[in-house]
Amino acid sequence: MSRLAPRGRLLRLHRLNARKHHAHATTTDIAMMRRALALAQAAADAGEAPIGAVVYETATGRVLAQAHNTRESHHDPAGHAELIAVREAGKALGDWRLNACTLVVTLEPCAMCAGAIVNARVGRLVYGAADPKAGAVASLYRLCQDPRLNHRIEPIGGVLARPSAELLRAFFRARRARRDKPKGS
Ligand SMILES: [Zn+2]
Repeated sequence: MSRLAPRGRLLRLHRLNARKHHAHATTTDIAMMRRALALAQAAADAGEAPIGAVVYETATGRVLAQAHNTRESHHDPAGHAELIAVREAGKALGDWRLNACTLVVTLEPCAMCAGAIVNARVGRLVYGAADPKAGAVASLYRLCQDPRLNHRIEPIGGVLARPSAELLRAFFRARRARRDKPKGS
């Protein structure tokens, strides 16, 4: 490109580059999200909040770890799908640095999990439904994009968000109905 190119052309090129570098979901991300949704369904069947997560090697598509919530069965306050998957991925890889990995999770991560994602230096983050009550990636906080922290990711949200939100709605609706049932019935 000529350094003497007119300003209009430079601006146009700049805009094209900005668009090219904007993060987007790949076909692998979408396939992994389907996998995470199946894990979320398995969680619901086990009485856990229906949230699933997969960590895969970005370059090869190799799955390193997958998990669903285990808070109820393990009595573990930290039993969130993506936190478990990130920890398992580190073990599978033999390295706690997950720069070369993509985390795919059906629900926007909370503050605890977003903190782990930053600490693990996860290379890419793809999530499904937004969580307006606890989401720490876009809804309440932007922990993965905070310039004060030493690792930043441009999260890709809203991928297959509808089936993810529908699983959660159905699960909590059923749980409320069970709780509201009069004793002895
Ligand atoms: Zn979490």
